[in-house]
Amino acid sequence: MLGGAVGSLVAAPAVVTAALAPGAPPPVPRGAAGRPMPKMEKELPEPVGRKVGWAVVGLGQFALNQIIPSFAAAKRSKLVALVSGSRDKAESVAERYGVARTHLYDYAAFDAIRDNPDIDVVYVILPNALHPEFSIRASRAGKHVMCEKPMANSPAECEAMIAAAKGAGRKLMIGYRAHFEPHNVKAIALRKSGELGRVRLVTSDHHRHIDQSVPADQWRLVKALAGGGSLVDIGIYSLNAARYMTGEEPVAVAAQVSTPADDPRFREVEDLVSFQLRFPSGAEAHLSSSYTAQNIKRIQALGTKASAVLDPATEYEGNRLALVTETGREKVKVEEASQFAAEMDHLSECVRNGAEPMTPGEEGLRDVRLIGAIYAAAEARRWLDLNPDGSLAG
Ligand code: NAD
Repeated sequence: MLGGAVGSLVAAPAVVTAALAPGAPPPVPRGAAGRPMPKMEKELPEPVGRKVGWAVVGLGQFALNQIIPSFAAAKRSKLVALVSGSRDKAESVAERYGVARTHLYDYAAFDAIRDNPDIDVVYVILPNALHPEFSIRASRAGKHVMCEKPMANSPAECEAMIAAAKGAGRKLMIGYRAHFEPHNVKAIALRKSGELGRVRLVTSDHHRHIDQSVPADQWRLVKALAGGGSLVDIGIYSLNAARYMTGEEPVAVAAQVSTPADDPRFREVEDLVSFQLRFPSGAEAHLSSSYTAQNIKRIQALGTKASAVLDPATEYEGNRLALVTETGREKVKVEEASQFAAEMDHLSECVRNGAEPMTPGEEGLRDVRLIGAIYAAAEARRWLDLNPDGSLAG
């Protein structure tokens, strides 16, 4: 009975009797049949076999909640290996994301990635102090590197990372995701196209509560692992935004640090940092970060023709951009897309075509130098001049 019903569905193909007029579309088949490729609204991903293979080092909060799930949206990048100190965790993640057991490494055996041709890029998502060691080991194993921000805890370590990548002839990119976040990308485009006029002032604030009971926050309160407090962790977004929203490099810095003496969280690292930058054009930036104020992630670029307001500016999703002009304030429509997939695909593309990444090691080094200058200015309690490379002058 069933067979007969199915048979009747497939047994009656459309029969075309009349000859087709030249240029006429082919007839629509009456039964199920292959049809031409539809017009694509989204770019097709690369064939899986041609995607660039990535290993993720460190299976913590950011890796597991943001980066690893974002491979699903990546067009040129695929997850092929995991590096973790916990075999159980690595196996559980590998099972869910289709990573082969042969492609799991621990920190001691990490250098064996050299012999795995499936791995092209290593993404370092460890506590800040471990970025140099694992980036350098990855470069020496012949792999390209994506390293999380802040690049390292000192300029000398950043320089060693850059030298290792250059020595191996491999790419080194720092995970400045805001450069790939659609609202920030649009705001930068508005600045570059002249729609903002001359940017006179950038203000940016990044604040959140730090919670000692959360494992991801524990190492952030240990200076030897984090390198500093709110400034290196989230103030770096304010700092980096001041540079990309002016398109200039600062020439002088002033800063103030305030840390509650009675709060046991802040025995080693600072809480609130307010800092100011001056740029060659006369533009200024007024910036801040803290681990005690409520969640704020905001960037404003005040220009002579228009001001761009990103609020929130650097959330993982749900950011917003408004433009303030003579005639009022208007929301700028921006299509959402995964900033994480975009940044990974950018490096994968650079690996394929040999181009330099938009946020190379030198970008990370510059911010690490500036962070040192910000702490020095707070200590000195006065404006300090900067060299063109972001280091302190004199
Ligand atoms: P996390 O503590 O959740 O993850 C760190 C991982 O490193 C864990 O898997 C942990 O097991 C491992 N690890 C290895 N040695 C360790 C040690 N000695 N102490 C602590 N952990 C150790 O932290 P996270 O929030 O995922 O941050 C990791 C990195 O990612 C940091 O550099 C951070 O700045 C960066 N990050 C970037 C963003 C972003 O938006 N770009 C967001 C969050 C974190």
